Amino acid sequence: MINVEAFTNSPIDSVTYIISNSQNSESIIIDPGTDQDERIINYLYKNSLKLKFIFLTHEHFDHILGVNFLRSTFPEIIVVSSEKTSERLPDSKKNLSIFHNQLNLIVNKSEIIVEAGSLNIIGLDFEIIETPGHTDSSLSLRFGTFFFSGDFLLKGNRAVTNLPTGSIKQYNSSLNKCQNILNGLTIFPGHGERYIYD
Ligand SMILES: [Zn+2]
Repeated sequence: MINVEAFTNSPIDSVTYIISNSQNSESIIIDPGTDQDERIINYLYKNSLKLKFIFLTHEHFDHILGVNFLRSTFPEIIVVSSEKTSERLPDSKKNLSIFHNQLNLIVNKSEIIVEAGSLNIIGLDFEIIETPGHTDSSLSLRFGTFFFSGDFLLKGNRAVTNLPTGSIKQYNSSLNKCQNILNGLTIFPGHGERYIYD
């Protein structure tokens, strides 16, 4: 059985998800967006979970603020992202942190670079889908009827495409590409509440 827990971040209200597999007690965190987040540590401890992977949908600082803390707390943890996301993690202009109170957030590159295709981790079969538009680096992650969209899909179609490397044209072609798989899926967006796509 899998379980999904959501955490709303601060100072920006992005949403972090922990997916866990009750059969082996392994878990993966998607877009840890709060620094020094004790809620994550407490949740893992309370549920006796091992945190094995960090999956990053894209490089924006409100989705990666917790990576350094988790790496120092769990030295074995493996960060997974697209190549473009990985390249931009150490650059505070490209991860946009410098534009937020001059925060100079530097995150080391990912341990594993992924492209579209299947990803078998924590004993579960995920599918990685390339969904550029919000950024050209954006990935979504699907497990069964669960779709973790990062900032690709937000409830009420509030997608932002005017940030660096964003493109409305790419966004629309990502939407078109996904149109036939999205219906009826539960969307776990990078901001706001989960919803059923229709
Ligand atoms: Zn973003």
